[in-house]
Amino acid sequence: METITTTIETTTFDYQNNNGMFGAYGGAYVPPVLEEKLQQLGNHFQTITQTKAFSQEYHYYLNQYVGRPSPLYYAHNLSKYVGSRIYLKREDLNHTGAHKINNTIGQILLAKYMGAKEIIAETGAGQHGVATATAAALFELKCKVFMGKKDAERQSMNVSRMKLLGAEIVLAEQGTATLRDAVDSALGYYIEHPEAFYLLGSQVGPDPYPKMVGYFQSIIGKEAKKQMYEAEGRLPDRLFASVGGGSNAIGLFADFLHETAVEMFGAEGGGEGEVMGKTAATLSFGKPGVFQGTHSYCLQDDAGEALPTHSIAAGLDYPGISPQHAHLKDTQRASYYAITDAEAIDAFRLLSRLEGIIPAIESAHAVALAIKLLKDKNSLSIINLSGRGDKDVERELML
Ligand SMILES: *Cc1c(COP(=O)(O)O)cnc(C)c1O
Repeated sequence: METITTTIETTTFDYQNNNGMFGAYGGAYVPPVLEEKLQQLGNHFQTITQTKAFSQEYHYYLNQYVGRPSPLYYAHNLSKYVGSRIYLKREDLNHTGAHKINNTIGQILLAKYMGAKEIIAETGAGQHGVATATAAALFELKCKVFMGKKDAERQSMNVSRMKLLGAEIVLAEQGTATLRDAVDSALGYYIEHPEAFYLLGSQVGPDPYPKMVGYFQSIIGKEAKKQMYEAEGRLPDRLFASVGGGSNAIGLFADFLHETAVEMFGAEGGGEGEVMGKTAATLSFGKPGVFQGTHSYCLQDDAGEALPTHSIAAGLDYPGISPQHAHLKDTQRASYYAITDAEAIDAFRLLSRLEGIIPAIESAHAVALAIKLLKDKNSLSIINLSGRGDKDVERELML
């Protein structure tokens, strides 16, 4: 990266000094005992991440351990197929196979600087659990991962990986026994164990998590911007990313938010279409409300209870969403579309054949949306390839 000489004006969103609100969204809706803890965490984040020592250590591990910067690859076959110039930001090439590790490295360093002895985390498909167990092993910290019982059965390989890495798995058996219940269990444990460090995996939950996760993932867009200047000498016209909780999308978008010429698109887990209970497209079909500590959009019934969700992509299968994306939607700075399971599977196969890159089924949602919106448009785009698809190959074979 040192070789880049182009002067680039970076006007990054200031996560360190954000007050926890993104327009009307965000905040911390938690019991008083957590309120104080989260405030302290936010203060530590603000001061520690601005020190040179922290920044150097964070970038050292991103470069030497995660393998950053990840390439910005010109996908010539896909570009020819679509009739538009498309680059892929290769987060699938990171250690552990997805973007999640950017955030876990950042938060675990923060935990270390704060003197934490135990790390706790929630996980759905197990991707964030594996990234957290990895980082905990690296820094010799005790690690407990809360996981829905149903998810643990569906994702047994990731359960084995986490155990191998030395993490303890705590099964959440209540409710739907999926991600939302794992978050509830982790929050419950956190209330009772104030000495633990809760390492949250997406841009959701109460303040300061959305700003911390947004900050640690913003490395994606910072790199992509430089790399695009190197390759094409200009900004991209459009950005595409899948949206579960919103962390890989905000990671790509953050450094472009003030570049008004750059359009941004998020692909949500549309599941089987606009049928409540069969979709996970929160911004497309949900309404504003408070869910798991933050005010944002939520897929909810008339009584304000979170609805069951469905997406073929476990990483997108969640009724909540980042408060920052809620704000970007309302202000029309970014647009969000529901991509169905069937469309995602088509894109999963297509990218594998065209480029020799098997994407995570989550990332395939972003590819599907790009293909839809870019057909024969002569523009320059980046798709965030948030993860690799090894975990999804077996299910693909069963279809
Ligand atoms: C977890 C995950 C997602 C969705 O989470 P975000 O916080 O929205 O990024 C997308 N892609 C992959 C590969 C994931 O593991």
